[in-house]
Amino acid sequence: MNVTDLLSRLGVDEKARSGGTLTVKTPIDGSEIGAVAGDDGASVDTALRVAHDAFLKWRSVPAPRRGELVRLLGDELRANKDDLGQLVTIECGKVLSEGLGEVQEMIDICDFAVGLSRQLYGLTIASERPGHHMREAWQPLGVVGIISAFHFPVAVWSWNAALALVCGNACVWKPSEKTPLTALAVQALFERAAVTFGDAPDGLSQVIIGKRDVGERIVDDARVALVSVTGSTRMGREVGPRVAARFGRSLLELGGNNAGIVAPSADIKMAVRAICFAATGTAGQRCTSLRRLFVQNDIYDDLIPSLKRAYGALPIGDPLAQGTLIGPLIDRAAFDQMHYALDRAKAQGATIFGGEHIGDKGYYVRPAIVELEKHEGIVLEETFAPILYVMRYDTLDESIALQNSVNQGLSSCIFTRDLLEAERFLSATGSDCGIANVNIGPSGAEIGGAFGGEKETGGGRESGSDAWKAYMRRQTQTVNYSSDLPLAQGVKFDV
Ligand code: NAD
Repeated sequence: MNVTDLLSRLGVDEKARSGGTLTVKTPIDGSEIGAVAGDDGASVDTALRVAHDAFLKWRSVPAPRRGELVRLLGDELRANKDDLGQLVTIECGKVLSEGLGEVQEMIDICDFAVGLSRQLYGLTIASERPGHHMREAWQPLGVVGIISAFHFPVAVWSWNAALALVCGNACVWKPSEKTPLTALAVQALFERAAVTFGDAPDGLSQVIIGKRDVGERIVDDARVALVSVTGSTRMGREVGPRVAARFGRSLLELGGNNAGIVAPSADIKMAVRAICFAATGTAGQRCTSLRRLFVQNDIYDDLIPSLKRAYGALPIGDPLAQGTLIGPLIDRAAFDQMHYALDRAKAQGATIFGGEHIGDKGYYVRPAIVELEKHEGIVLEETFAPILYVMRYDTLDESIALQNSVNQGLSSCIFTRDLLEAERFLSATGSDCGIANVNIGPSGAEIGGAFGGEKETGGGRESGSDAWKAYMRRQTQTVNYSSDLPLAQGVKFDV
């Protein structure tokens, strides 16, 4: 685990990761891997001023040319995938294939954004007035502030930045205070791409480092046209109204409490594999992790014992080692929250399998299966840890109602081979989430679709489909190419 070598290959100066006051620890063994200098009011102000100046220049660069910068960024990410993927693993603890997968996701969204740079389509609209035409155009928005969480330390930035840049915006990124090193590495790669590009304005994409007080400066600054925040519902509840108070735009990607339904016709073997990945992958620290499972009464006694067998065999340990599937929790606070949730479940009468602390360095845990009779109490809350609450159900209606009866609305799934059940789940009276899957778990989204959720998940959409529209200003344009001035709705105003 040679962080100095990794950072130096990625272009981060040794000085940038030492001597500061923000200590960075790897969850692998809790050792210190950096001490990064934080930003203050003055440096954030400078960053936002420079970003705004950069936006004023960048908005006039033709979109396909802006796409070329993102293409070059994608090239840098391809060339440095192994190093950056390893750094992701070291800094946030996800297993190496997921660290590499996160960088692949960055590459994918860059490719998507390059294509998008030639497809920022508007509409032409029929005018009711003779000799007129109307159209809808999409204009660059301004500075986009990106505030991200620890467990997708780099991909979330790229979902936002790749789109924001081709849409003609500048970006200022505040990564999680738990993962600043990966952000510095990505910034170094961006700067290399900008040098190859040649004439990108200075400060087009910047990183500022710090805790929530630094994030709050982005939130409150009128120069930031869009604040895109990814993190807890608690954080979004604070940020959303603050941005709204200054009539800024926010894009909220907040907590999930994702459910799965296993129906009687399900392929049990496949469901067990999918449930294991969704509930225990990334040690349960994905916003889309599976947290609640509803199993139909007739198959409960088949499914749960085989799920427990699979849980018992999960390789837990060093996330850099080949074969490991479950790495550590991010820190002590995450471990304490997991045990607080398990204690509350026990007090609700739950039967708990797993959950024990493993080893003496770092916070490694065996993922827990928690069987409960009732859907209540702690089950309704998101605990960012590998806890799967399992409950029985009788009818499909009952399972859909249970699934929807939480405040969060991010991701959901059903395992069934019955077409009627699958389509019902995907219908207007089915899942109320932003993401609904059939015969795959709720996690592991691809960048081609819009990503995000409803209710307390915040309503924002990032990544694919037409999520790019959040990063642009919609303008309705009317042109009169006649010599008359007819008014709409037949209004007369002759002077
Ligand atoms: P967190 O809310 O503690 O922190 C997220 C980021 O917000 C950090 O950069 C933090 O410094 C900043 N922040 C916190 N309070 C702030 C404030 N008042 N003003 C401005 N910035 C503030 O979240 P976390 O523990 O890093 O991440 C886990 C959470 O993120 C989970 O709830 C998870 O579900 C959620 N998440 C959601 C999505 C999604 O797309 N819906 C994606 C990833 C993570």
